[in-house]
Amino acid sequence: MTKRIFRAICTVAAIVLLASTVLIMGILYDYFSASRMQQLRDETALAAQGAEISGESFFDGMSAEDFRVTWIAPDGTVKYDSSKDAKEMGNHLEREEVREAIKNGVGESERYSDTLMEKQLYCAQKLSDGSVVRLSNSQYSVFTLFMSMLTPVLVVLVAAVCAALWMASRLAKRIVRPLNEMDPDDPNENDCYEELEPLLRKLRAQQYRIAKQEQELSSKRREFEAASRNMTEGIVLLSDSAEVLSINEAAKRLLNLRTDATGKKITELCEGEEIRRLVSMAQNGIHAEAVLPPSYGSRQVNASPVMSEGKLSGIVLLIFDISEKEKAEQMRREFTANVSHELKTPLHTISGCAELLQNGMVKPQDIPMFAENIYNEAQRMIALVEDIIKLSRLDEGAVDMKREPVDLYALAQSTVASLSRAAQEAKVALDLEGESVVIDGIPQLLQGIIYNLCDNAIKYNKKGGSVLVSVRSADGKAKLTVKDTGIGIPPQQQERIFERFYRVDKSHSKEVGGTGLGLSIVKHAAALHNASIELHSTPGEGTEISVSF
Ligand code: ADP
Repeated sequence: MTKRIFRAICTVAAIVLLASTVLIMGILYDYFSASRMQQLRDETALAAQGAEISGESFFDGMSAEDFRVTWIAPDGTVKYDSSKDAKEMGNHLEREEVREAIKNGVGESERYSDTLMEKQLYCAQKLSDGSVVRLSNSQYSVFTLFMSMLTPVLVVLVAAVCAALWMASRLAKRIVRPLNEMDPDDPNENDCYEELEPLLRKLRAQQYRIAKQEQELSSKRREFEAASRNMTEGIVLLSDSAEVLSINEAAKRLLNLRTDATGKKITELCEGEEIRRLVSMAQNGIHAEAVLPPSYGSRQVNASPVMSEGKLSGIVLLIFDISEKEKAEQMRREFTANVSHELKTPLHTISGCAELLQNGMVKPQDIPMFAENIYNEAQRMIALVEDIIKLSRLDEGAVDMKREPVDLYALAQSTVASLSRAAQEAKVALDLEGESVVIDGIPQLLQGIIYNLCDNAIKYNKKGGSVLVSVRSADGKAKLTVKDTGIGIPPQQQERIFERFYRVDKSHSKEVGGTGLGLSIVKHAAALHNASIELHSTPGEGTEISVSF
């Protein structure tokens, strides 16, 4: 800035100086020329007068330092010259001033000397005898005049440069100081000169825009943080160089991060090749997924690049806990294997019996026994398939079943009635007690709960034993209890009997027509009614299972 101002001032000063020098020189030159010539005229007139009066003696002993005096005869020969020998000088008749003086009485002329540094002024006057007195004088040329003025001009120039420097630095400081002292965060508080007002106006508008954008950004950040805080999935926002910009609590938990991760590189925070590979793929614009090593638990990470105008602007990592999914998959695998196994046994029996019958290898009196075997195994398969269908419907959330008010006591009454024959056959007394309790539920599932519990209580009972079903309302809850005096369940297996296909005594269960799915159906159906199950059992004494709705 200082340099610019300095250059501007210097340019103006140089132009002014040059113009004024030229102007002054022109005026001075004209003035000096005119006065020099006038002086020469006056001197010539005096010399002519002297020569007229005194004749030749006027020139004797004449000493003229400033002027050169020449006396020229009417024929042009030089009779006297103050600076040269007159005899050596040529005829002067052709000289312009002489010719003019002879003609008009007075003549003047100007001529440059050889060097052009000087100009000669001539003035001649004719005397009464026809001779001519001529005076000449030298005058400086424009160049000489300029050279004589050079020193003061240079002095003025140096002074102007110094003044320009001083002024430039002062001006620059005065212009720049308010800019340096300006507070862009608070444009209204700045005391500036009026030329800065447009800049301040722009700053004010920008401040307003920035404040608005900041407000929008922080409200969006708050929204994002609130949403991500409540997510069960981990979410991590990374910069294009893999630094953590934002991370939610779930991500910290799933990645076992204890320190504050913001601003650090994710590849340094998390060990293992997988994260590094995912990040580098996302940095190359490729979406990638991977399961983390077992040290993290069951974690799946998806990495997605965030592109803006064709360039990578960040990376989003989504972290999922897949332990439930893996458990479910494991259960499904086990279930499929169990189902195939459970179906294989009766199918083998049926196929074996049928083959023997087909080959006529069965004695006629044994045919009814083989037919009964086939029937029983087929019934077992039907029961198994029915239970599997019930379970799969429960797994899907029983969406096709309607909820309605159900009287639990009435439902228990009809179920007990349907099982009374089986109880009689097993020599078990089956009783119901309690009161009418209405709950909101799915009748088929509630009936399944009561049926399976009562069926087990009869199946795993002793001859002469009893089963007591009770339906009561306690603490605002409906409670169904099935208590038997049966074989009981060993304590270490009480937890597991609700698992699919789990049986305490497999052969006994098969003997009494169990599928191993009854209590799984009870557990699922209870869960769909938000009901809790309680089990008390003592081997050899009996079992009590309660469901509280
Ligand atoms: P199952 O079809 O074999 O009865 P469940 O799932 O209903 O299958 O029951 C699982 C196992 O729990 C049974 O095989 C049995 O060993 C045990 N169990 C269930 N209820 C009783 C009970 N009331 N008394 C004794 N054991 C029982």
